Amino acid sequence: MIDFNIPPYTGTEEKYIQEAIKSRKLCGDGRFTKQCSQWMQEHLDVCHALLTTSCTHALEMAAVLTGVGEGDEVIMPSYTFVSTANAFVQRGARIVFTDIRPDNMDLDERLLEEAITERTRVIVPVHYAGIACDMDAILDLARRYDLQVVEDAAQGLTARYKGRALGTIGDYGCLSFHETKNLTMGEGGALLFQQEEALERAEIVREKGTDRSKFFRGQIDKYTWVDYGSSYLPSELNAAYLWGQFMECDRIQQDRMQTWEFYHQAFADLEQSGCLKRPVIPSYAEHNAHMYYIKVADLKTRTRLLSYLKERGIMAVFHYVPLHSSRAGQKFGRFFGEDRYTTRESERLIRLPLYYNMRPEDRERVAEAVWDFFR
Ligand SMILES: *Cc1c(COP(=O)(O)O)cnc(C)c1O
Repeated sequence: MIDFNIPPYTGTEEKYIQEAIKSRKLCGDGRFTKQCSQWMQEHLDVCHALLTTSCTHALEMAAVLTGVGEGDEVIMPSYTFVSTANAFVQRGARIVFTDIRPDNMDLDERLLEEAITERTRVIVPVHYAGIACDMDAILDLARRYDLQVVEDAAQGLTARYKGRALGTIGDYGCLSFHETKNLTMGEGGALLFQQEEALERAEIVREKGTDRSKFFRGQIDKYTWVDYGSSYLPSELNAAYLWGQFMECDRIQQDRMQTWEFYHQAFADLEQSGCLKRPVIPSYAEHNAHMYYIKVADLKTRTRLLSYLKERGIMAVFHYVPLHSSRAGQKFGRFFGEDRYTTRESERLIRLPLYYNMRPEDRERVAEAVWDFFR
């Protein structure tokens, strides 16, 4: 059987986990957490990178930091993971879902201006498949209407927009290190931001509403409850695993890219003959081979192709059910304008197996099976 995903493992993780155990510090913000933060700051060129327990939690932190509340509106694509919306729903905000672009499945920046009302506070671009949204257009709107931008870069580690790392371009960026992402720590994530002013509040939100980070730096002599917060710092054991992954980041990325390129080449002719569509990478974007998807004619074809692959032991999967069509989506938000592409394109999409160290013969089998289906 060919799995859809196998969590990346490089072989150095155990050594670092053992070091964490021997250091007798297992709770958060020890040596490995610090090293991971520094790695992100250097490699992504961002002033602050706080390691979190998940991207869901990084999004929750970002939502708190934006200050959105009851009656405010937050614009995001309907084609995203539930956490993107939940984080803002938790603050009492209403979600305004907008349509996506059919070429790269990212939110359509051309529809955003019309969706803005006097209650709009935040825009949340989701960089689907690690392919950047058109950030210049989004930042320009944000400036003109005085809105904040929170990037859901859960899938975007090391991917870039005009040379800048995803997650470092808006006011806040959220990464995921879930086992299904390019690099992992089991469950985990990070909150990225450039503004110095946001750091103190962010540390407080992450540390149960206390000024404990300042205390540990010796800036104050006791710590207390100063504002609303929760517990968003991961254990050192998880950070140690991630450190092993960061050390091998280039190798993991090169390997994923090879599989991505292999699929992309393999399906060029099928696209030519109109059987499927391949992902489109805009010229401003450097993607990170987070995902390889194809889009077939319609839902019926997709269902048939998925079961065809499954019969051959290949675990391909579909992706998001548009949030505006879900029960919670209807309760907490509304779709703005016409759903031209969100439903239609999401029903056509299939994600193929892609993971670190995928054997060449396995990806060949996947491509062959897709070819056979269309034959
Ligand atoms: C994976 C993912 C998340 C959630 O990440 P967790 O770390 O599992 O909380 C959020 N948004 C998007 C777009 C994702 O792909």
